[in-house]
Amino acid sequence: MSSDCLFCKIVSREIPADVVFENDDVLAFRDISPQAPTHVLIVPKSHAPTLPELAAAEDGERLLGRLMGAVAEVARSEGLSPGEGFRMVVNTGERAAQSVFHVHLHVMGGRMFGWPPG
Ligand code: AMP
Repeated sequence: MSSDCLFCKIVSREIPADVVFENDDVLAFRDISPQAPTHVLIVPKSHAPTLPELAAAEDGERLLGRLMGAVAEVARSEGLSPGEGFRMVVNTGERAAQSVFHVHLHVMGGRMFGWPPG
């Protein structure tokens, strides 16, 4: 837990969020500013600023697996998979438009997506 971290405060329920999935290791909640009809953020409950830092942490690889499992679960429960499809994004660093420095996976669906992303 990092005391000045927005997503740590959501994990601890200090700040409310629209939670759609949770297990011992991860929390999934709707993005406050959705960029698609479905836009869910999936975070590890333990604090790591970026994906590489999570991967390097003790237990990091297990947590990466838990995050990916949650992506599949949320995509299923939101009706995106199988069939509709979805986009998973992990912005890493300011140049890649990361604005909250607690690792989070964006899961978006319900509209067409272009490639390459902007
Ligand atoms: P990123 O730019 O990849 O760091 O994404 C951060 C995301 O967090 C953005 O899509 C924001 O809309 C979202 N966000 C910021 N504050 C909240 C909040 N209180 N609850 C849910 N999502 C949030």
